Amino acid sequence: VRQDACPGALRPHEAADGLLVRVRLPGGLATPTQLVTLADLASEFSDGHLELTSRANVQLRALAADSVDEVAARLTACGLLPSASHERVRNILASPMGGHGPGGRWLVRPVVAELDERMRADPALAGLSGRFLFAVDDGSCDVAGLGADLTLYPLSGNEIALLLAGVDCGLRVAPAGAAALAVAAASAFLAERADGTWRLADLVDGPARVARRLARGQVSLSVQLPDSVFEPPVGLLAETGGTHAVGALVPLGRLSSAQAETLAELGETGRGEVVVTPWRTVLVGGLAKTTAAEWLSRLGLPTERDSPWAGVFACAGRPRCAKALADVRADAAEVVRRTGRGALPVHWAGCDRQCGKPAGAVEVVATGNGYEVRDGDGTRLFSAAELAATVAAAREGMG
Ligand code: SF4
Repeated sequence: VRQDACPGALRPHEAADGLLVRVRLPGGLATPTQLVTLADLASEFSDGHLELTSRANVQLRALAADSVDEVAARLTACGLLPSASHERVRNILASPMGGHGPGGRWLVRPVVAELDERMRADPALAGLSGRFLFAVDDGSCDVAGLGADLTLYPLSGNEIALLLAGVDCGLRVAPAGAAALAVAAASAFLAERADGTWRLADLVDGPARVARRLARGQVSLSVQLPDSVFEPPVGLLAETGGTHAVGALVPLGRLSSAQAETLAELGETGRGEVVVTPWRTVLVGGLAKTTAAEWLSRLGLPTERDSPWAGVFACAGRPRCAKALADVRADAAEVVRRTGRGALPVHWAGCDRQCGKPAGAVEVVATGNGYEVRDGDGTRLFSAAELAATVAAAREGMG
């Protein structure tokens, strides 16, 4: 079994540009105070930016070795590092609108909080891999299709299905018992895996074995999830109850300290929270419509759905990652400048590992001798100069 090298706040990753720490944000949630702390840390110790990840966590990079203890102490002081033993396993995706948007059938924030708390209270669960992933979907099916090991999905406001590696094994629970069932399933996974397997999908017959161990499931395939549609919540968004949310794109997932501070200010106006989404966007809800409309242009981030930055992802690339064969962020930004919004997401990677690639994305991979563009039509090699038209066509499904 390979060693799980997922970075954390207490276990930095050594990248080419310095140490990288990853801070888990269960449900993608940060309070305004926590976001300001992160912004301060980015300014003082990092490169002035927070990196948003595909699991709605944040990273600080380019840290010096002697700053790591101070960073951890300040994260702990603001509540972002509540458990040293469990910090890397607190990977919980949640629907960014939290149940307040269209399709919402239950409010997911309390479920995320309970799940996080129950996980931290169980010493054995510190043994999960940093890659093990929970998802709590509000019924809009926005995070249910993101490949989590354990997904809570509401069939109605009263009945929650627990999906095991995306498979419906007939597990049903009332909302009040949902977090406990997910934690029980994680424990069952640990009991079933004999060889340190990281993910439920990699365990032979994993979903059925976990369901049997929970002794309540029978294999069925009754939950038919609607197809996940790639449409991150961006712009002015109506919430049930008459409030509104503001969603913004974060180009290439890099949020500057100044932008984070502005978002924190907006978060104070809403529900006292800022949400990072798995699509590397940000969202603040619970706002009066006029306030939300006014802030659309004050954030300093793209808030138009047809922005060419929508659906454009890139790994760290050169010079930040030693494995990178190109400065993919610069090349992706150049192509964005020359094209409009694409229908399909695109992911630029500096090498074949393709860290952080979202499902269904057109793949643009550096080879050291130009880029390979991989889509439904196969794989073709291009020089950086030839890329814009090819990537644009591939994102329209016309590669
Ligand atoms: S995909 Fe390759 S170049 Fe990009 S961050 Fe991962 S290892 Fe580094």
